[in-house]
Amino acid sequence: MPSSSTFSTIYINKPRRFYKIRKFFFITVLLLSLGTSLEARELKEYKATRPYLGAYVTIQCFYEADQESLAAEAIQKCWGRMDQIQQEMNAYAQEGDVAEINRNGPQGVRVRQDVYRLLKDSLHFAQLAEGAFDVTVFPLVELWKDAEAQGRFPDQAELKAARDKVGYQNLRLEEPDRVVLAKPGMKVDLGGIVAGFACDEIAAILGSYGIKDFLVDTGGEIFCRGKNKGSEPWLVGIQDPQDKQGILMTIELNDSCASTSGNYEKFYTIEGTSLSHIIDPVSGYPQKDIISATVIAKSAELADALSTALCVMGSEKGMALIRRLDSVEALIIENKDGVTRKTQTEKFP
Ligand code: AMP
Ligand code: MG
Repeated sequence: MPSSSTFSTIYINKPRRFYKIRKFFFITVLLLSLGTSLEARELKEYKATRPYLGAYVTIQCFYEADQESLAAEAIQKCWGRMDQIQQEMNAYAQEGDVAEINRNGPQGVRVRQDVYRLLKDSLHFAQLAEGAFDVTVFPLVELWKDAEAQGRFPDQAELKAARDKVGYQNLRLEEPDRVVLAKPGMKVDLGGIVAGFACDEIAAILGSYGIKDFLVDTGGEIFCRGKNKGSEPWLVGIQDPQDKQGILMTIELNDSCASTSGNYEKFYTIEGTSLSHIIDPVSGYPQKDIISATVIAKSAELADALSTALCVMGSEKGMALIRRLDSVEALIIENKDGVTRKTQTEKFP
C-alpha cells in the first residue's frame, strides 16, 4: 500500500474541501466549487496518508509558520504512536500485547496501561450494547475467515464450538494491568474499536502541541477540530452505501468525531454470497440487515464501538441505545426484505 505526505504553505480562504468516509479506500478529497477569495495570513499545511491496521490513516493539519518545528515534532510523534498501536493492539500481529493475550490469556497476561484501558472501555461498551459489541468475538471472526478461504459455510458444530469461546463476561481484568481469558480458546480482537482509539490518540498528541486545526482519519473513523484552511468548516461526506460514487450527505465536524460501519466494503464472500465482517456474537452469524451505521460523538473510540454495535443491534434497539446517551447522534441505513430504510436521531446533522 502506498503512503504519501506533503508539507505545503497555504493561504486561508482558498476553495473549500470535504472528506468522504470510506473504509479501506483512499480518502477522496473532493473540491466543491466555491470561489477563491483574498489571501489573508500564511498557514502551513501538513497532510499524509499511510497504511495501518488494514486501512489508510490520514493526518492533515494547519499551523502558523512559526509553529513549524513543533508541528514536525508532533507529527513524528503521531506516526510513532500509530506504529505502537498497530504493534500492541493488533490480533493479527505476531508480537505485542493482544498477540500475547491470545497466546497466553488463560494463564493471565500483564499488559501496557493503554491496552488495559482499551479493554476496560470495551467491556463497558459490551455492557452498554448488551453484548452486541464484544471484543472476544475473534474465534467467530477466524471461523468466518477460514470458511471464506475454504469456500464453504461453517456447519452447526463448528459454529457452536466457536460461539462457546465468545463472551465478554469471561474476559477478566485485574487491576492494575492483568488480563485473563477465563475460557479455553478465547481470543480478543480490538478491530471494532482500535481505529477510533487511535484517532483520539492522534488528536490528543496534536492538541498537546498546540495544533488547533486538524483532521485525523484512521479509515472510517474521523476526528476534526478547528477549521479547514484556517477559516472553513471541516466537511465530511458520508458515502452512499448503495452508490460508491455518491455522497449521501455532508456533515460538519468541529471537535467531534464520526465513525461508519457497515456491510458494504468489508465482507466475506462464501459461495457467491457477501457477508458482513461484523458478527453477531450471540448467533455467531454475520449481521445482515444493516447496510451502514454512522455515529457522531465527542470521542472517536465511542463512535467506533457504537457504529459496530449498531450493525448488530439493528435500528430499533440501536436507536433506543443512542437516545439514552448524551451528545451522540446516529444514522442507520438498513435493508430488510428488499426494502431500504433510513433512521436517524433528531439532531443528526
Ligand atoms: P468496524 O469496522 O469498526 O465496524 O469493526 C469491524 C471489525 O470488528 C471486524 O472486522 C472484526 O474484527 C471486529 N468485530 C466483528 N464483529 C464484532 C462485534 N460484534 N463486536 C466487536 N467487534 C467486532
Ligand atoms: Mg467500530
